[in-house]
Amino acid sequence: MKRRDFHHLLQRSAVALALSPWLTAVAVPANKPRAWRSNPFALGVASGRPRAESVVLWTRVVFSEEDKALGDEALVVQVEVFTDAALKQRAQKVELATDATRGHSVHLHLQHLQPSTDYWYRFRQGDAQSTVGHTRTAPAPNADVRQLRLALSSCQHYEQGQFIAHAEIAKEKLDFVLFLGDYIYESSNVQYAIRKHSGEEAKTLTQYRSRYEQYKRDPMLQAAHAAHPWVLMWDDHEVVNDYANDQDRQHTDPQQVLLRRAAAYQAYFEHQPVLLGPDASNPANMRLYDQLSWGKLADVWTLDCRQYRSAQACRDPVRGGGRMVMQCDELSDPSRSMLGYEQERWLSESLSVSKRQWKLVAQATQISSTSIPAPAGRAYWNDAWDGYPEARKRLLQTVVDAKLQNVVTLGGDVHCNVAANLRLEPNNPQSPIVASEFVTTSITSRGLGDKPAAVIRDSNADLLHFRSDERGYSLITVTHNDVRCDFRTTKFPAGSEVSLKTQASYVVKRGKAGPQLI
Ligand code: FE
Ligand code: CA
Repeated sequence: MKRRDFHHLLQRSAVALALSPWLTAVAVPANKPRAWRSNPFALGVASGRPRAESVVLWTRVVFSEEDKALGDEALVVQVEVFTDAALKQRAQKVELATDATRGHSVHLHLQHLQPSTDYWYRFRQGDAQSTVGHTRTAPAPNADVRQLRLALSSCQHYEQGQFIAHAEIAKEKLDFVLFLGDYIYESSNVQYAIRKHSGEEAKTLTQYRSRYEQYKRDPMLQAAHAAHPWVLMWDDHEVVNDYANDQDRQHTDPQQVLLRRAAAYQAYFEHQPVLLGPDASNPANMRLYDQLSWGKLADVWTLDCRQYRSAQACRDPVRGGGRMVMQCDELSDPSRSMLGYEQERWLSESLSVSKRQWKLVAQATQISSTSIPAPAGRAYWNDAWDGYPEARKRLLQTVVDAKLQNVVTLGGDVHCNVAANLRLEPNNPQSPIVASEFVTTSITSRGLGDKPAAVIRDSNADLLHFRSDERGYSLITVTHNDVRCDFRTTKFPAGSEVSLKTQASYVVKRGKAGPQLI
C-alpha cells in the first residue's frame, strides 16, 4: 500500500468513526452480487457541502417488497469518483457499509480533492448502479475568483405544483444550489393540491422517511441534485409548521416535541448530503449551521433559525406559532433569540473578522420588516425576524460595529420575492442602510394574497420589491463589483409547457448598501 493510499484509508476510517453509530461496520456475506428486482437507487444521488478539498456524496438504497424478501439488512455500497464526464479517469473507489438503522442511507465525506474542480460520481450495489452525479469543489481560500453563481431556493410543497424551477436549475451553470428550507412539508393542504402526498401528516421516523421518498422520486428534483452540489439549511416544515426549538403550535409537551423533532432530523440526515456537524453524536443533535468561503470573493453563512430559537412572542394560548401580534411587550425582551446564544456568538465572531469581498448571510426567513398599521400601533408577523427585533438589531449592530461593507442577506420561507434595505431601525430614513436583503419566492408553495401583499408593500418603505404572486427561484451572481439577483418565476408551476421568466433583477454594488433595480 502506498503511503498516500494509507493516508486515504486513515481518513476514511476517521469519517466512519465520526459518523458512528450512523456508519457502523457490519459483516456482509461476500458471495455473488445481489440481483435487484427494482432500482435500489430510485431516490437518485446528491452532493453537498462543497469545500476546496472535500464534498459530501449521498444516496439511499430503497427496497421493493420483492427485494425486501431477499433481505434488507446490512449492505456494502461502492462509490466511484471520476475526473471526467465520460467516466474514464477514476479518482477514487470507496466501499461503505450501511444498514436499516440509518435507513440504508450512504454518506461519503469525500476528501483530498482539488479546488475548483469538477467530479462525477456514481454508486453501485450488486448488479445495480445509480445515475451519474456531477459535483464541483469550492475554490482555494485565497484564490482570486471572478464569479460565484448560485440558485437560491426554498419551500417546495409537493402538492402545490411541479418542480419546474428545479428543471431549470438543473440546466444552469452554477457553483451550487443554496436551499433554505421547507424541503418537505409534513402536512397537506387539500385546497391547492394538484398532486397528493401519500400518507397522513408525518410524525414518526417511518412517516418522515416515506415523505422524503415521495419527494426524492420527483425527476426534476433528482436532476437538480445530480447536476450541482447543494448547500442546505432547514426551516420549520422539515419537522412541523412554525415549531420553535421544543415548542409547537399546539403547546404539546416539549419532551414530545423533541421526540418528534429527533425523528424528523434523523430522516432529514438520511436524505441529504450533509454531515452531523462538530460534537454531534447522532442526527437528534446535529449542527446544520455552517460557513463556507468562495476564494477571496465571498464568505457564506447558513444559519439555523429553528433549532435554537425562542418561542414566538405573544403566542395565542390555543393556537400558537406564527400570527400577527400587536401591543406585544415580549417583542422588546432582549433575552429572546432567533439563533440561540451559541450560534449568535459564532456568527458575530466570524462575521466581524471576515476579510472576503462579500459577506452572504443566508438564513431561513425574512429579516426586513413586513409590519402593517393596526388600530393600536403596528402589527408584526411574529414568526420571522419581525418577531425577534432585538436579535435582528444585534445582528445588524455587528455589521455596524465591525464596519462591514458588502453584507447581503439571503432568505426564504415567506413564499415571496423580496429586495430590501436593512437598517438598524426598519423603515426609518434617518437610520443608515447597513446591509441588503434578497428573499426568494417558493419553488411551489402558495404565497400571500395580492391584497395583503399590497398592504405590506405600501406600509414598509424598506421593501423595494415584494411580490408573492409567482413561484420559482432566484439566480444570484456574485462578482468583484456587485451581487446580482434575478427572480426567475412563473404564475403557476404546473404542466410540462411551463417555463420561467425574469420577474425583476436587482443589483447591490460594492461599497453601496441597498439593492438597485436594473
Ligand atoms: Fe414554506
Ligand atoms: Ca417555513
